[in-house]
Parts: sequence; C-alpha cells; structure tokens
Amino acid sequence: MSAQIIDGRKIAAEIKAQVKVEAEAFWKRKGRKMGLAVILVGDDFASKIYVRNKISACNENCIRSFSYELPESTTEEELIELIQKLNCDDNVDGILVQLPLPPHIRQNVVLSHISANKDADGFLAENAGNLMLGNPSLNACTPCGIIELIRSTGVNLDGANAVVIGRSNIVGKPISLLLLENHATVTMCHSHTANFVNFSRHADILVVAVGKKGLITGEMVKQGAVVIDVGMNRKDGKLFGDVDFDSVSKVAGYITPVPGGVGPMTVAMLLKNIVKAALRLE
Ligand code: NAP
Repeated sequence: MSAQIIDGRKIAAEIKAQVKVEAEAFWKRKGRKMGLAVILVGDDFASKIYVRNKISACNENCIRSFSYELPESTTEEELIELIQKLNCDDNVDGILVQLPLPPHIRQNVVLSHISANKDADGFLAENAGNLMLGNPSLNACTPCGIIELIRSTGVNLDGANAVVIGRSNIVGKPISLLLLENHATVTMCHSHTANFVNFSRHADILVVAVGKKGLITGEMVKQGAVVIDVGMNRKDGKLFGDVDFDSVSKVAGYITPVPGGVGPMTVAMLLKNIVKAALRLE
C-alpha cells in the first residue's frame, strides 16, 4: 500500500484564496484594508526570510503589512512601547513579533503586551487559555493548519485515536487540544514517555512535532493511519521531516511531505487569523 500525499501547498493556496475574498470584501465595506504589523528585531537570517514570506503573503492577498525592522540593540522598553502603539492603531488588526528575540529581551514579557485581540500568532496566555476552555480565540497557526490537513483527507476525527509526539507550547499542546475539541481520543508523548511506539502503533492520526530527522519509521505506524509530519530538520542544505517518508508512506493511508506539507499551512493560517481578528473588531 502506498499512502496518499496530503498536498499542503494546494490546501494553503485554497485557504489564501478564501482569505483574499474576505479581505477584499472588508476593504470595500470598511474603506481600509485589514492590517498586520510585523516586528523583527536583529539580523537573524532565517527570521528575515520568514518575515519576508509573511509580508509577501499579506501583500498578495489584500492585507496591508506594516513592517518594523529594529536593530539588535533595541531595548525591551522600546519594543513594548511600539507594541502598545500598535495595540491602539485602528489600521492594525494583527501584531506579530518574529521569534526568537535577542537574548537581552524577555520574550514572554514582550509578548504579554500584545492585545489578545491582535495576537496574530495565537501565542498569548489568554488565547491559549481560551483554547483550553473551548472559547473562541486566535489559535496558534501551525496546529490550525494541521487540523485543516487532516480534514482534507475526509478521515473522521470523531472517536479517532490520535497520538501527538511533542508537547511544545506552539505545536504539541495546542494541536492536542484542537484534536480533543474535534472529539478525538488524544495521547500526548514526549521525551519522558517510556516507549512512544506503544502508542504510535495504535494511532489513527499521528502528529509528530519533535525536531529529529527520521525519528518515525514504518514499523512504528498503524496501517492506514493519517501521518502529519511537523518536523523541519536541515541537513546539507536540505529540509527533512521527523518522519522517514519512504518507510512510513508504505504503511500509512495519508502522509504529509516535508517540504510541502505542514510548512505552507502556517502562513495561510496566519492570514486566516488576521481575518478573524479584523472581523471580531468590526
Ligand atoms: P520543541 O519546542 O523543541 O519541542 C520538541 C518536543 O519533542 C518536546 O516536547 C520534547 O519533549 C519532544 N521530544 C524530544 N525528543 C523526543 C523523543 N525522542 N521522543 C519523544 N518526544 C521527544 O519543538 P517545536 O517547536 O514543537 O518544533 C518541533 C519541530 O517542528 C521542529 O523541527 C520545528 O522546526 C518544527 N516546526 C515546524 C513548523 C512548521 O510550520 N512546519 C512550525 C513549528 C515547528 P520534552 O517536552 O519532554 O522535552
């Protein structure tokens, strides 16, 4: 058996097209475009590329972007002052602070100053708490993208046995809560799990967000499972997932490739969060 590939690029393009329709309608209705403010501090090469991609995705889909490229020497106070200004700016619906920040800036302190209504990344404690309580919230983009990828397979999440490997605040924990919200039975595995294979082998839905190239191999996966590979591991200039694609695709029913699976969905769901934020403030 050979797994069907879940095409993240295609699904992301469909979501962006929907976003564009809603953003254009908002522009007509309100006389202004939805807006995202993106703050980058310092010269991190990868961060610059991520920021450039996010800004061009906004520009291509009728969302105005406000870019703030600040020097490495920026203080915590200066950054907080900018965030507070953007919180009050009616042209800005979402605020994104590109991570990581330089070591002299406390990430949690800075992020806590973003208005929860403008939390484009969905990383704030208030939004994470609302996700846990099942209240409407701006949710982290990668987990939201994963749910869309799973939905695209048509596999029923209700009652499915879902296993998430990794428990980070930005992927593992929120995707577990979203799966639970969709009535899956969820097991979370992490580095202290005695033997995650005991769980992964029984998973109808397997989400892997660890950051270890090829950690999951075919014999660890249930026949016909939906396998979502979140990992992004660079080796010799190439990108690899956490899942050994060759062996797992022989067993799984559906599988995301790396690149071209989860990655493209993250930016698409960021745009969706801006729409959500803009419409909520309307
Ligand atoms: P992270 O914060 O480093 O978390 C990794 C998690 O994996 C931790 O919970 C850790 O357990 C667990 N873990 C480590 N070794 C393990 C093992 N041998 N067995 C089971 N669990 C193990 O990473 P992250 O931010 O969630 O990111 C994970 C991967 O996804 C990375 O490759 C990252 O680049 C990628 N990513 C991709 C996107 C995208 O858009 N495609 C977005 C975000 C992240 P403990 O908690 O016990 O330490």
